[in-house]
Amino acid sequence: MSITPLMPVYPRCGVRPVRGEHCHLIDEDGTRYLDFASGIAVNLLGHSHQGLIGAIQQQAATLMHVSNLYGSPQGEGLARRLVEKTFADTVFFTNSGAEAVECAIKTARAYHQHEGDLTRFELITFKNAFHGRTMATISASNQEKMHHGFSPLLTGFKYAEFDDLESARALIGPHTAGFLVEPIQGEGGIRPASEAFMRGLRELADQHDLMLVLDEVQCGVARTGTLYAYEQYGIEPDILATAKGIGGGFPLGACLATEKAARGMKIGTHGSTYGGNPLAMAAGNAVLDTVANDEFLERVRETGARLRARLEQFIGNYPELFELVRGAGLMLGIKMKSDSRAFYAHLRDNHQLLTVAAGDNTLRVLPPLIVGDTEIDEFFDKLSAGAASYTPPAA
Ligand SMILES: *Cc1c(COP(=O)(O)O)cnc(C)c1O
Repeated sequence: MSITPLMPVYPRCGVRPVRGEHCHLIDEDGTRYLDFASGIAVNLLGHSHQGLIGAIQQQAATLMHVSNLYGSPQGEGLARRLVEKTFADTVFFTNSGAEAVECAIKTARAYHQHEGDLTRFELITFKNAFHGRTMATISASNQEKMHHGFSPLLTGFKYAEFDDLESARALIGPHTAGFLVEPIQGEGGIRPASEAFMRGLRELADQHDLMLVLDEVQCGVARTGTLYAYEQYGIEPDILATAKGIGGGFPLGACLATEKAARGMKIGTHGSTYGGNPLAMAAGNAVLDTVANDEFLERVRETGARLRARLEQFIGNYPELFELVRGAGLMLGIKMKSDSRAFYAHLRDNHQLLTVAAGDNTLRVLPPLIVGDTEIDEFFDKLSAGAASYTPPAA
């Protein structure tokens, strides 16, 4: 038998973390890594955050799980907070990002179909998007590397060019139910949509009675300096998927919707055994306690602006390696002139700096949102040493 006990779907590297402290991860052999990946935009309070630990410990000792057949004071509490802080009127809790997007897709279809209009089931999505790994969410992405081996895909998705309003408009037809878009593409390479594009999608949705569905699984929850990224575009969606950072490391996601958009989500139409269980709600509340206030968000914006300014200055020293910096808040990407995966591995293995590679030759810089100047200085020490000692792979 040669298969590994963990199904070999990930290209796992030699870093094997067993402990976390604030912005650092400690490997099983004791090596310390600076963590500017945050479990891919998940650990927004860093590691070993006392408020989050305390909330989970206390809830674990009180009540961990009950069925959604019972009333949920814990779920109502967190849902009410999200409703107060966002465009939404109602929330469905999930255990992951893909499940949140899945619920968003079902909600958009049900909006049109619950009164018998079965013809409107198609979502217009965007090239190089990432929405998760379930059958519906891989079908929602045009990326063939995620499709290979899993056909047939689900029908009902059309792929437009990202950040190209005319391309989206051209795909609207009698079957269109809505748009599904990441305001800032994460896996696709930290590519922010323009304001004109996002506002244009909102207008098209209003004109054609379409659902505007945002996938803020990566860019949401204070990452970009507002609780959700849509706030910075001056628009509101009908439906939004959130996850990753919202549990601070505890598996939690949610599908947020307006009352109108959720009109098809009636009793018996959807469900989840674990979704919204008290332990997850305690984690979500602890995260919101810390991040959902103007002071914290302002700090993310300021820290993000400082980090970005220093990154822009830094890449000027290596014009042969780096092309530009893009993103918002503490969701930043450095577009490279060669494969970013090779540089990511170099930083990781030779300088104990953890970042994340993404599409479009982009290196993602996603520190915990509680990052301070000390860690940012350490980051630039490692990044500078890494760039100086780096030879890009031969093209
Ligand atoms: C990570 C991600 C997902 C999927 O989340 P999972 O928790 O891995 O299922 C969906 N959409 C976006 C934009 C993501 O970054």
